[in-house]
Amino acid sequence: MLPRRLFFVFNIIAVLSLLVQGGDYHIGRASSPFIYEGIFITLWGDGSESAGEEKIAYYLSTNQNGTIQLIIDDELLTSMGGPVTHNRQEMLVTGVWLNEGKTLQVQSMTLAEGKPVSPQGIFGPQPWVSILCKFSDIPAEPNDLEYFQEMYSSSYPGLDHFWRQNSYDLANLEGSGAFGWYVLPHERAYYLPGGNFDWWTAAADCTAAADPYVDFTPYIGINLMFNDLLDCCAWGGGWYACLDGLCQTWRMTWEPPWGYQNIGVIAHETGHGFGLPHSLGNCQQGYDNRWDVLSDVWSNGSDPIWGTMGQHTISYHKEMLEWLTPHQVLTVSTGTLNTITLERLALPHSENYLGARILINDLSNNFYTLEVRQPTENPIDYDKWLPGFAVIIHDIETSRPEPAIVIDRDGNCNTGDAGAMYTPGEVFTDIPNGITVSIDSATETGYVVTINNRFIFMEGVDIAGATQGYIGESVPLTATVGPVEATTPITYTWEATGFPPAVHEGTTVDPIEFTWEEAGTKAITVTASNEGGVVSDTHLIEMVSKVPIVTLSGPAESRVGVVNVFTATVVPTDVVQPITYTWQASGQMPITHTAGISDAVSYVWDDPGTQVITVTAMNILGSTTDQYTLLVFMPPDSLEITGLEFGEVRGSYTFTATVNPITSTVPITYAWSVDEQLAITHTNGVLDSATFQWDSPGPHTISVSATNQVGTVVATWLITIYIKVYLPIGMRN
Ligand SMILES: [Zn+2]
Repeated sequence: MLPRRLFFVFNIIAVLSLLVQGGDYHIGRASSPFIYEGIFITLWGDGSESAGEEKIAYYLSTNQNGTIQLIIDDELLTSMGGPVTHNRQEMLVTGVWLNEGKTLQVQSMTLAEGKPVSPQGIFGPQPWVSILCKFSDIPAEPNDLEYFQEMYSSSYPGLDHFWRQNSYDLANLEGSGAFGWYVLPHERAYYLPGGNFDWWTAAADCTAAADPYVDFTPYIGINLMFNDLLDCCAWGGGWYACLDGLCQTWRMTWEPPWGYQNIGVIAHETGHGFGLPHSLGNCQQGYDNRWDVLSDVWSNGSDPIWGTMGQHTISYHKEMLEWLTPHQVLTVSTGTLNTITLERLALPHSENYLGARILINDLSNNFYTLEVRQPTENPIDYDKWLPGFAVIIHDIETSRPEPAIVIDRDGNCNTGDAGAMYTPGEVFTDIPNGITVSIDSATETGYVVTINNRFIFMEGVDIAGATQGYIGESVPLTATVGPVEATTPITYTWEATGFPPAVHEGTTVDPIEFTWEEAGTKAITVTASNEGGVVSDTHLIEMVSKVPIVTLSGPAESRVGVVNVFTATVVPTDVVQPITYTWQASGQMPITHTAGISDAVSYVWDDPGTQVITVTAMNILGSTTDQYTLLVFMPPDSLEITGLEFGEVRGSYTFTATVNPITSTVPITYAWSVDEQLAITHTNGVLDSATFQWDSPGPHTISVSATNQVGTVVATWLITIYIKVYLPIGMRN
């Protein structure tokens, strides 16, 4: 494939190389450095459809020396930020003459002091004037004046309409006009010295020929329409001139018939007039970006009257002209993950983003742009001839002469095929720069995309800290997210037993402290979240006391005279020692011991009843107390029966059983049985009575058992029953 980007300055650079090799700039007059101040102008040369040539030239418009061609090597141009950034800016240029008064080899170039970069935005009416000029030796008038006037129409496909649609109605060509034809003072060849078109002479002569009939002052740009071929190209850029008393750098184009006979070419040239550069396809052949009026207009549709039609320019160019606001374009910085809906760039239908700018390593001069392009059925849609509905990605380096290059995966130099059109399920990946763009789904007029710019997902979070702590003392814990490169900021939500949630934002490590006032198991959960997801971890900690916490144990019940052992045990087991145990119990003398984590005492009670035992465990930090209640019972010792020893048949005889001692624990259950048959059960105190009768004479045994909670005693009694002798009635007296 032939290199199609030709720089017509190559011969001059070759001459310069010879000069530079000599290493001495003071040989001859031509080598003395000069400093000039002026407006930096980029001229773009656009070849015809068949030639497809692309040229670029740089000039400085100065007051002292008119327009000087600048020869700048690529390295210098790149180091100062590229030509696009400085287009139409007031610059200080240092260099040596290669061709005195005409061509300067640039040694350095800076913005003129106190001249900030002027706004690049193009807003409101941008009236252009077309001046039709005929070479003196060529009589043809390829199109009539009406054609040129119509070209600016506010109706489709006029240029006013075209730029209104491109600029979302922010800029227009209202007030534009056309004048001519005027005859130039010279033949065509005069304007082509050495075969290269002399823009400045042609511009001066053409505007001078028109000057008696045209007031230039309302116009910001001039399209010079010639009646024959120029050199290779149609040209767009600027020209410094004083016209009708207005001295400025006029936006200017120079057009051969094939230029103005294709309105897309004039759209392209007026784009240059606004300061827009070319964009490129992936093979960088020139005019090979199917998605940009500032590149491949020839593949776009055509109109029977107006020829090739321009499509919209790309989002980067619309941003340059400030037709897209910062909130319409998502700037994606390094270390972020975003899912957004992109709306189509032309004739948008929603408030969604019209573009995204993915900064490569956060550089402001090197990034990718995303935009959605959609050909529609709308007859006035300038994108209606585009090859498909897709996300289009450009690689932008602002210091390049053509900053934007289309990403085309298949590398086949056809930017109108599927390789350059990203659709759902497809992913753009730039591994070295950590960038991926996934096309998730389509909407009616756009696409949902997920943009990962060096975003590193969290794999997990881990809480580090002790598993035991002391109540009343701060417990430090640290959450650590892995991997250490995970994208920050990370939001940590800490939830811990007894505390409201705490939220922190930080890096991959987040410390926290808790202080609990109560012992027990505490659960701490941390949830770490960033744009990529959520991870969590839970940690358990046993909170214990530094003060001994005492628990008292002993027998469930007891009886008088029995030895009772009570044990006091403290937790935690690693509590600060020694521990002083102070024992107090009802009816007992106080006891004090100094011991370890447990202590024991023995008590014997002589009296029954409820005994209260208290122990206090104390170390140098504090004390706790526990209490124990013990029931001490008195077993019955003996049982005594009282009653008669003799009785009669059918007589009633009452017997009383008495338990000794009288302090025996009540209640007492008495079980009375007579002759081992009759059984009566009473519950009573230390005394109980029962009454019996007998029908049969003879000896009878009464048995009693008396039982309380801790013992049983028994006793028996013998009564002898006699038959009662009834005397005759008479004998009763
Ligand atoms: Zn061009």
